[in-house]
Formats: sequence, structure tokens, C-alpha cells
Amino acid sequence: MVATILVGMLCAHLLCFAAMFLLISKRLHGKKMGLDFFAVGNLLLGLAYVLQLVEGGPAWSVMSVVNHTLTLASPVAFWLGAMRFFGRPVPLLRPLLVFAAVYSMAQVLVQWSLGPVARYAMLSGVSALMFLLMAGTVVYGVRTFAKDLYGEMVFFAALIFGICVLNAVKFVKLLSGGLAALQMDADFQLVFYIYMSFLATVLPPSIIWLVLRRLTDELRNLAARDPMTQLLNRRGLNDALQLYFNSRKAVPAHALMVDVDHFKRINDRYGHQAGDTVLCHVAQVLHHTVRRGDLTGRIGGEEFVAICLDSDVDGVMQLAERLRAAIESQAVAMAGGGQMLHCTVTVGVSHHFMGAQGLEAAMQEADAALYRGKAAGRNRVELAACAQNGLPVQRTDCPSDTTKTAM
Ligand code: GH3
Ligand code: MG
Ligand code: MG
Repeated sequence: MVATILVGMLCAHLLCFAAMFLLISKRLHGKKMGLDFFAVGNLLLGLAYVLQLVEGGPAWSVMSVVNHTLTLASPVAFWLGAMRFFGRPVPLLRPLLVFAAVYSMAQVLVQWSLGPVARYAMLSGVSALMFLLMAGTVVYGVRTFAKDLYGEMVFFAALIFGICVLNAVKFVKLLSGGLAALQMDADFQLVFYIYMSFLATVLPPSIIWLVLRRLTDELRNLAARDPMTQLLNRRGLNDALQLYFNSRKAVPAHALMVDVDHFKRINDRYGHQAGDTVLCHVAQVLHHTVRRGDLTGRIGGEEFVAICLDSDVDGVMQLAERLRAAIESQAVAMAGGGQMLHCTVTVGVSHHFMGAQGLEAAMQEADAALYRGKAAGRNRVELAACAQNGLPVQRTDCPSDTTKTAM
């Protein structure tokens, strides 16, 4: 009786969350993050438990074969859903149908050749292996493509490993005690159903929380980045700088303003599309030239900025020169192949600044230096001047000579 109530509640949980996953996934146009697959997984397991309630106990019937197949198709759908969540474009229907056909045939063969105990033992054994595979995949995910979800993934792996252990125990009990081990109100079966009910209650909200977390991360990323080059925009730069300067280890930073020379001519001569390709190329070179941890952004049409953290003025000037030289030396391949374009940039470098609120002033300094670089012939690196209103600015990194790297 207790077991029947537990299984009934389990069915209700699974089917309700299947509907909820489906409704949420319908709202997520395009990228559903595996929620539609999780809905199918929940639905299959919910239906399997409905059949178990209808059947009452072990039997050899079409319903029982369908029940076993549904029970095992569910972790397959969950595994594929997890792949989707991590961005792998795996299909659902075909693998499920192939699995269902193969496992149904395997059941008929095992029942016919080894008997009913072997068929039920096969269900528990394959379930244990599948959940072991799932727990292994989650652990692999923590070490590779889901490093930012360490706590959540370890929690999931532990829960999944629990079902794996219970199925392994059931497998051994079936082999040693026969079908009596499947009595619905037997102690072990009660523990099994209680654990499954616990999972059916805890896992779906956790999955929804994970999807929400990914969605909000993506939205934040969208709001912080320039869609064409994927570099940070002004807002992203400000947020990232705030985060950096909030840390106790923060040391002063320098701003580099980078402007493509005669970019209008590139647009006029080769077209806007070619101009965009050049911008993406400059963004890439900038991104790969700065040190790990430095910030790079696009703040206007053909204007970029790099914020160098934890470096002195000599190091920043060297980096600016490396960037200038890299862009000058690398040709840009146009879409469709064939044509190669060359472009140059002028770079203005600010003195050091501290705090996110110092960024605006630092960018103005770097911009003024950039303007001087343009006036002096372009394709150069220019450090911000030290004197303001005729008075020297009191900065430790301001050299007596305004370093200019002539190209
Ligand atoms: P300078 O060497 O003095 O910097 O000259 P410039 O031609 O590079 O600068 P100017 O400010 O005169 O021209 C910038 C051009 O950039 C004008 C604008 O049409 C173009 N532009 C702005 N945003 C984009 C964009 O997203 N894509 C493309 N292809 N062009 C853009
Ligand atoms: Mg320009
Ligand atoms: Mg400009």
C-alpha cells in the first residue's frame, strides 16, 4: 500500500515536471538548453511507472516489455538533454527509437533463452550501467565544458550515483533471490521508491535553476559585448573593471585607445562588408596580443580599447608597439578569398589609473595621445603627455620624456 502511494506520487511528480519543462522550453525560442529532452525523459519515466502501477507485479506481457523499454529510454533522453544543455547538437528521436527497438528485442531474446529473472536483472543491470555513464559524464563535464558549474555538477553526480548503486543492489538481489526481490512492499523496494521520489522532487527544480543560471549569464554577456567582434562594450568594460578594482589585489591599470587608420577609405574602396572584416581582424589581434586577464573592448565604429592590468608604463608601451606591429604586418583575407587587405592602427596610451571611475579620464588621456599620433602621421604609438596647464602631473609612471615610438 505504502509503495503504491509512493509510486503514484512519483508518477504525478514526473508528469507534472514533464509538462513544466515542455512549457518552459516552448518559451525558449531556438536554444532550449535540453529542456525539451528532459521533458521527454520525465514523460517516459512517468509512463513507465504508470504501467508498473497497472501491472501490479512482475509479469511477461507486452505492457511489461514496454514498461522496461520506457524505464531505460528515460535516462537516454536525460543524457541527450544534458548534452544539449552543454551545447552539443545531438538529436533525440532517432537514438530513442533505435534504443527502444534494440532493447525490446533484447528483452524477448533474454526472456526466451534465460527466463524472467534474467529479464528483470537485465533492466537493473543496464540501469546501473547507464546511471554510471551519466555520473561519469557529469564528472567529465566538471573537468571540461562545465567548469563554472562545479558545485552543481558534483551534487548531480552524487545523486545519480545513488540510483546507480540502488540498481546494482537490485541486480544482485534479483540474481540471488529471484523475482521475490521485486515485491512492491519489500523493504528494499520501499527504499528504492523513496529515493526515486526524492530525486523526482529535487532534480527538476535544480535543472530549472541551472537553465535560469545559464540564461541570465548569456543575457548578461549579450548586454556586455559588442555583437560583431565579441569584445566588451563600454558597459562590459566598466563592469569588469569594477569587479577587478573591488578585489584586494588590484593594482593600477593603463588604458590603450586603438583607432584604425583611414578606415573610411577602406569602406569606400572595398565596401562596408570588407570594413567589417577588417574590424573583426583588428579585434582578434587585439584580443590575442594583450596578456591574459587584460580587458579588450570596442567603444565606437573603428575604435578599440585595451585595459592593461598589473603592468608598468614600459610594459604597456611594449604591448602597444607589439599590437601596432602585428596589425601592420598581418594581411586581412576578404570573404570569398583572393583579395588581401593591409591596414594600420594608431595607439594612444594613458598613464596609470585606479578605480573604475578613473576609466573615463584615462580614456580621455589616451584619446588625446591618439589624436597626436594621428596628427604626427598615423601608424604610431603615443604616450599621454605629462603636463596639464603647463604643470607636470604628479604621477610615478610619467617619464620626463613623453615616449614616442616612431614607426
Ligand atoms: P583616421 O585615420 O583619422 O581615424 O580616419 P578614419 O577614416 O579611420 O576615421 P573616420 O572617423 O573619418 O571614419 C570612420 C569610419 O568608420 C566612418 C564610418 O562609416 C565607419 N564605421 C563606423 N562603424 C562601422 C562599422 O561597424 N562597420 C564599418 N564597416 N564601418 C564603420
Ligand atoms: Mg580611424
Ligand atoms: Mg575613429
